[in-house]
Amino acid sequence: MLRRFQVHRATTVAEAIELRIQFGDDAAVYAGGTELLLAMKLGVARWPHLIDIKPIAELRGIALNESVLRIGATVTHWDLERDATVARAIPALSALERNVANVRVRAAGTLAGNIIFAEPHADPPTLLMALGARVILAGAKGRRAIPLVEFVTGMYQTALAADEILVAVEVPVATARRAAYVKFQILERPSIGVAIAGDVHDGKFAEAPNIYVGAVDEMPRRVATQTLAGASLRDAGTADALAEAARDAVEPIADLAGTAEYKRHLVGVFARRALAAFAEAA
Ligand SMILES: Cc1cc2nc3c(=O)[nH]c(=O)nc-3n(C[C@H](O)[C@H](O)[C@H](O)COP(=O)(O)OP(=O)(O)OC[C@H]3O[C@@H](n4cnc5c(N)ncnc54)[C@H](O)[C@@H]3O)c2cc1C
Repeated sequence: MLRRFQVHRATTVAEAIELRIQFGDDAAVYAGGTELLLAMKLGVARWPHLIDIKPIAELRGIALNESVLRIGATVTHWDLERDATVARAIPALSALERNVANVRVRAAGTLAGNIIFAEPHADPPTLLMALGARVILAGAKGRRAIPLVEFVTGMYQTALAADEILVAVEVPVATARRAAYVKFQILERPSIGVAIAGDVHDGKFAEAPNIYVGAVDEMPRRVATQTLAGASLRDAGTADALAEAARDAVEPIADLAGTAEYKRHLVGVFARRALAAFAEAA
């Protein structure tokens, strides 16, 4: 059952920050509400005040400025999957967004909310980390940019300060850069996600690629890839080395989707599939 709460509609970033300071721990930022209202309904969290950031014009919209794709904090998964600029600039992100949750969650849920909730069983953070994304935060002391890999600090934990809101997610875009994301999912949320991003030259990794494994551990984990610089994308040896490195990168958590041992095995399988998808995209 939902307990009574009051919604405060912020119309500027400054107003949202003021409300954060005014209500402190008694308030939560409210975007799509798909996690927030569920947690409140289940009684696992209670906030007497919600700060609705959807009226803030600055937080809307997707823009490609030179080599950075900027995604506003109230942009939903549904917006992202249908956006032509995203499809052109980062096709792997479009494809990922089409497979997040169900259409009702995608229509209301935002990318920013997904990142900030830091639920381990999530898709976008894994790919965005591989792509070198950063988040832009605004607080009482001004704005700061922080790499996503530093922003997510653990299970349901981020570096967001008590007075801050996330304003945008910025993803570097380079024409030579390729990316792929594959996942394994039998429950409501993913059990394993593997993302690869890197430059390709002559069918080989031009340098060590960025590879992350998500959803299996407390947070996405980086795979050691130094030995893959110059490796041919379609060599069996490359797939073997990647599968082993990916399995070594994670400490899988056993849950309804499987034991830790089973998940570690699947990480190897999905690392190979990610490489095949990456080779296809290159
Ligand atoms: C049934 C179901 C299935 C799902 N399946 C998947 C899946 O397959 N893959 C996947 O990746 N995810 C999945 N999700 C997660 C989904 O992507 C998130 O619920 C959604 O993106 C959260 O966004 P929101 O706008 O609704 O966040 P909200 O619920 O509004 O907020 C979530 C958290 O972020 C905070 N917050 C939100 N925006 C800001 C901001 N700008 N600044 C500061 N704090 C902020 C809120 O205070 C809250 O703590 C699923 C969720 C559900 C309910």
